[in-house]
This record gives sequence, structure tokens and C-alpha cells, in this order.
Amino acid sequence: MHTARDVVACPGAESCNLAVTSSRALGAAITERLEKDDARELAASVDTAIKISGCPNSCGQHHVADIGFHGGAKTFGGLTVPVYQLHLGGGVDERGARFGKQVVKIIARRVPDAVVLLMKLYETDRKESERPRQFFQRVDPKRVTATLASLAGPPEAQAHEAIDIGETQGFVIDTKEGECAA
Ligand code: SF4
Repeated sequence: MHTARDVVACPGAESCNLAVTSSRALGAAITERLEKDDARELAASVDTAIKISGCPNSCGQHHVADIGFHGGAKTFGGLTVPVYQLHLGGGVDERGARFGKQVVKIIARRVPDAVVLLMKLYETDRKESERPRQFFQRVDPKRVTATLASLAGPPEAQAHEAIDIGETQGFVIDTKEGECAA
């Protein structure tokens, strides 16, 4: 069975000239987060698709995932940090492709915790027999924003959150001319 731990990510900043963020590193961080005690069992049983792209292009297919993220940047009081736009409820079925709803932007280092909160929201709010695909299509974006409220707000003062996951230096948008790596 496909589970939440089977995260798909495009190459991102690892090798793509167009990348804004390190999408593969985020994928690894989500997988690691879902192994912790408060999420392990749930993540192993929820058959959802998480897909990540390191920029608004769609090589990671974030737009057609139950839970999708695409990388970008946001400036808070002069500090620019890596963020991900959350897309919910996309997919592909016999009727064709359905793009997910863009819900909220989340600071990159907070995304693994956001995924856990989304898993827990599914567990508490789903209807009987409702699969994640149906749930994330149906759920009210306001309910999701409220669920993720603890992760909103400016980055930590020490600028740890200004460094992308998988990187050691401050965040620099370093896109170059060239083609996507996917
Ligand atoms: S261009 Fe494609 S491979 Fe490169 S970061 Fe964007 S989505 Fe990923």
C-alpha cells in the first residue's frame, strides 16, 4: 500500500537550475518526521500521496497530489526565508487531472510538522470510510488554516528558519538559466 511515508520529490536545488528550494531534502525530512512516536502508526496506515516540487513548475506533481508542496520564498521584516505553498486535494482519476487547492504558505522547516498535523486532521475529521484523497478534496481550507495556525507567523529570531532544509548556509535564491533537471 502507498502510505504517507512514500514521499515523491523532484530534484530541486540538488541539481536543478530552476529550483528555489531543496525539495528532496524536504521529502527526507518529512519521512524522518513521520517515523517519530506521535506519527509513526498513523503515517503507516494513511494511504495518501505527498508530492513536492522545488519551484512552481510541476515536475514533482505537487498540483495533482492529495498533499502537495511547491517551493518559494517569503520575506518577513527584511529576512527572506524558504517557504512551501501547500496544495490540497489534487489528483488524477478516470475524469482526468484535478488541481489541488492552494491553501497556505508554510516556512520550509515547519513543513514536516505541518504534515503530521494534516494526518491528525484527517484522523479526527474524516467521515466513515473516507479515504485521504476524498478527505483532502472536501476539507474546508479555513479548517486547514486553523489547524496549522501554530506554524504560522514569522521565522525564529535566530534565523535558523532562514536556512533551507538540507543546507548549511543562509537562504539565497540561486536560479540560473537552463532547463529543469527532471
Ligand atoms: S524546474 Fe522542475 S525539477 Fe526543477 S525545481 Fe522546479 S519542479 Fe523541480
